[in-house]
Amino acid sequence: MTRNSIELVEVGPRDGLQNEPDIVPSADKIALIERMIGYGARRLEVASFVHPGRVPQMADAEDVIAGLPDRDDVTYIGLTLNKRGVLRALATRDNGKRGIDQAGCVLVASDTFGQKNQGQTIAEGIAENRAMLRFAKAEGLSAQVTISAAFGCPFEGEVKPDTVLAIAEEMAAEDPAEIALADTIGVGVPAQVEELFGRLGELLGGRIPMRCHFHDTRGTGIANAWAAYGAGVRTFDASLGGLGGCPFAPKATGNIATEDLIYMMERSGIETGVDLEAVIAANRGFAAKLGRELPSRVARAA
Ligand code: ZN
Repeated sequence: MTRNSIELVEVGPRDGLQNEPDIVPSADKIALIERMIGYGARRLEVASFVHPGRVPQMADAEDVIAGLPDRDDVTYIGLTLNKRGVLRALATRDNGKRGIDQAGCVLVASDTFGQKNQGQTIAEGIAENRAMLRFAKAEGLSAQVTISAAFGCPFEGEVKPDTVLAIAEEMAAEDPAEIALADTIGVGVPAQVEELFGRLGELLGGRIPMRCHFHDTRGTGIANAWAAYGAGVRTFDASLGGLGGCPFAPKATGNIATEDLIYMMERSGIETGVDLEAVIAANRGFAAKLGRELPSRVARAA
């Protein structure tokens, strides 16, 4: 990456689809991911290794992964909520198969939300994720970690920056490929993003890259992405059309839209490697499949 460039992590296939009430067939998921690679996405969150009873949309994770194009220039991320998830990610590579390239570990910066989302308090999440990061790396699988609900909790309200940073420090001790802060319920505002990522950047001292994950529930998502860029973040999660939500966070809506992120960055002179026209075309195709318009503002205006 040059100085004025960012990296997109396309999370539509996982965060985007997991809240869709109707099960999207595996073949359609694979076609969607191929289309995303076509518009320039080079890192994609393709599935979640969560219990199929908890998130039925992700029950076909292994089938989707087995059908993905085997390309050297693309990184496939699988979300892992516990050690069992890491084992499933590793198993996708058995017998010389391409499989998953990177485990996306997750813990929550709130005891109540953590227990509802993945049955873990903060302390349990820290212990589990440290063990997962260590285990994945020992097995030769790249691993990064996301701290969810870092900007607020749907059940407890405010989440203290000190809580988030203390968790980040524990994760940094395992030397993950990246540490992300996620605004799972879309309550964050730019001043908060600037402060939290500013402090995280100081803590990590350039040793571990930062990533951001914003939801646009209250209309601040894209402003938050700009604030994160200002605070030194260069990797951004977004989903095609702004699909998404969280089945365990009441009223949470979609991720920031890939179209909106790419439009803002490219118009600001920041390279993304993504073809906006092709993203909008992919939006139209998938919206037709779902039978409804997707939230992206840029796609609506096009
Ligand atoms: Zn999310």
